[in-house]
Amino acid sequence: MALNLAKSAEAFAEAKQYMPGGVNSPVRSYRSVDCDPPFIAKAKGSKIYDIDGNEYIDYVGSWGPMVIGHAHEAVVKALQKAVELGTSYGAPTLLETELAKRVKHLMPSIEMIRMVNSGTEATMSALRLARGFTGREKIVKFIGCYHGHHDSLLVKAGSGMATFGVPDSPGVPKSVAENTITVPYNDVEAIRKVMAESGKEIAAIIVEPVAGNMGLVLPKQGYLKELRVLTEEAGALLIFDEVMCGFRASLGGAQAAYGIVPDLTCLGKIIGGGLPVAAYGGRKDIMLQISPAGPVYQAGTLSGNPLAMTAGIETLKIMTAIPEDGQPDYSRVLTLKTKKLLLGLQVEAKKAGLKLQFHQAGSMFGIFFNENPVYDYETAAASDAEAFKVYFKSMLEQGIYLAPSPFETAFMSGAHSDADIEKTIQAAAIAFAKVAA
Ligand code: PLP
Repeated sequence: MALNLAKSAEAFAEAKQYMPGGVNSPVRSYRSVDCDPPFIAKAKGSKIYDIDGNEYIDYVGSWGPMVIGHAHEAVVKALQKAVELGTSYGAPTLLETELAKRVKHLMPSIEMIRMVNSGTEATMSALRLARGFTGREKIVKFIGCYHGHHDSLLVKAGSGMATFGVPDSPGVPKSVAENTITVPYNDVEAIRKVMAESGKEIAAIIVEPVAGNMGLVLPKQGYLKELRVLTEEAGALLIFDEVMCGFRASLGGAQAAYGIVPDLTCLGKIIGGGLPVAAYGGRKDIMLQISPAGPVYQAGTLSGNPLAMTAGIETLKIMTAIPEDGQPDYSRVLTLKTKKLLLGLQVEAKKAGLKLQFHQAGSMFGIFFNENPVYDYETAAASDAEAFKVYFKSMLEQGIYLAPSPFETAFMSGAHSDADIEKTIQAAAIAFAKVAA
């Protein structure tokens, strides 16, 4: 690799002695792209800097949260002020209610909310609530949708029609996995069949309404509506996991973009502005089942942490600021920037003679090295992994920081400039030519 990553390589070797694989979350290890990861020293705006002094334009954005850019002045200032007041109280604060109100304003389906610390915790708790509320045990998830790493959802199925889950990871009890039914994404007939056979045993269908964990895969027209109808008919709950697409597919999330009202919604990433926050919320009658209002237990020492609430509030404030007369609002600007980048990439791919798939949902985007349409895990997995590796490495060498996997989504932020977008398109021209060579 042309890039000088000597210090990062040394740091990675040392980290591996203390942490499994040298990291605290697997994909950071760069294993799927056969190179060592840059170790990060700092980030500001649209840029991220490694300990060797390399600068990159960042489209990972900490895997989604950094929608207003890194170290935004307003967030930094608010955090500096907040930290002086203490870092954690384990007691109610005004900040929690303020963030709750802001979320409800943007997503009216979230009549009540519970703050937690990670997306995993949000989906895990939402499932417990759905099971407690309905008195049913089975849940349905879609192949290729990721909802965190707790036992019930770390399950996929073989290809084809729905099968009863087998554990995806050693350590997931079979008895737990058996209650998770997995179905191909975007396959209306498959989910209809499952609901016809087992609908009355199903507590909830959980779905990424815009799927971002098999690359970016959009729901087909009418698919989410079908899920809404099927759950209503079966007396099951519809859970939208908007941990990634919340505030990105549109300001009001995928639920606003597609006009569907889920029973429960899981949020994460942006809601904490880069600090560890997630949440689940939804219909008041369901949420009132949560302890101490109701019998479904769920708690957290650091839940609603004042620093994390502060970062989330500041981030949402910026995203919802009223634009000057005639100017598009924040999320519209993000969408337009993303469109501009994708159009440029499309032109360069065509020039290189590559037929690729380009997907966008608001400020989320993804490329598949695949000549054919991608609409589920199977079609996503049929993409050319070797071509992705060539593209990824070339982009990294040219200072463009992408997620090191073809099954991840890329993110635009408000801090990305026209110059950043232009530079990215130019880099992609070189990377695509290498892929085509
Ligand atoms: N749900 C979705 C849609 C996600 O994309 C993720 C993480 O990327 C999670 C849940 C899990 O969130 P966390 O990593 O904060 O546990």
